[in-house]
Amino acid sequence: MIQTQCTVDAITPLTPFVQQVLLSPLQAVDFLPGQYLQLCLTEHDKRPFSLACLPNGKQLELHIGASKADEYSSQALNYLQQQLHTNQPVMVEAGLGQAHLRPSDNPVLLLAGGTGFSYVYSIAKALQLQPQKRPVFLYWGVQQQSSLYLLEELQQWANSHNSFRFIPVVQQADNQWQGRTGLVHEAVLNDFISLDAYDIYIAGPFPMVGVVRDAFLKQGAHREQMFADAFAYI
Ligand SMILES: Cc1cc2nc3c(=O)[nH]c(=O)nc-3n(C[C@H](O)[C@H](O)[C@H](O)COP(=O)(O)OP(=O)(O)OC[C@H]3O[C@@H](n4cnc5c(N)ncnc54)[C@H](O)[C@@H]3O)c2cc1C
Repeated sequence: MIQTQCTVDAITPLTPFVQQVLLSPLQAVDFLPGQYLQLCLTEHDKRPFSLACLPNGKQLELHIGASKADEYSSQALNYLQQQLHTNQPVMVEAGLGQAHLRPSDNPVLLLAGGTGFSYVYSIAKALQLQPQKRPVFLYWGVQQQSSLYLLEELQQWANSHNSFRFIPVVQQADNQWQGRTGLVHEAVLNDFISLDAYDIYIAGPFPMVGVVRDAFLKQGAHREQMFADAFAYI
């Protein structure tokens, strides 16, 4: 774990409820794809946010928010906005979490609920850079279609990489939506007879992670091949 101050470079809306936050650490920060940092609001109030980026020695990228305003993210965002506007640094603890990408030859299932996407995005980017192309299935579940803030980029990845499949799943779809609907993990259960062969990386609301763990184990997944930092909280 590395503790360092960061300048807040930019806060940009990805949707009306989710913001991209770019931070520049004052000290080099190393981390693994899928790890998170803690934003220290005070000495005792530290909030975990997944790193959406790969280590590049420069900026850290976070996606903070939820499909509706909640205190967990809005308080963190208010704090970041205040530090940005007053040119004050923030303190972070980076390189945290056990649910990072593992070296393996297994095909990969990435499952994100809402802003859990930040976590799977960094893992997907790392997998794209690996010379050996493992089959990757990225399922991203959201309540509304408008929450799929990187829909086009991911569809382009899928169009240009045979080994990468992207399946967005909208819970409350309107008439315009042509894709999958319902709960994201139910789409996975419908698509895979068995999850036996897969390394599975999961992030999203805690109730979702609990439901997914139990349902996927019943569908043949192996507990030692399932990774989610939320397991430590539920
Ligand atoms: C280590 C760690 C890292 C975190 N990183 C971030 C971060 O980077 N950014 C951030 O904003 N917050 C983060 N959080 C906080 C928390 O994970 C998010 O607040 C949460 O993922 C927000 O989800 P949402 O409201 O966007 O999803 P929702 O909009 O509530 O749900 C999205 C989809 O998930 C599925 N789903 C939701 N609930 C259920 C359920 N009960 N059963 C089955 N499926 C369900 C559905 O398909 C739904 O459409 C983190 C927490 C921890 C512990």
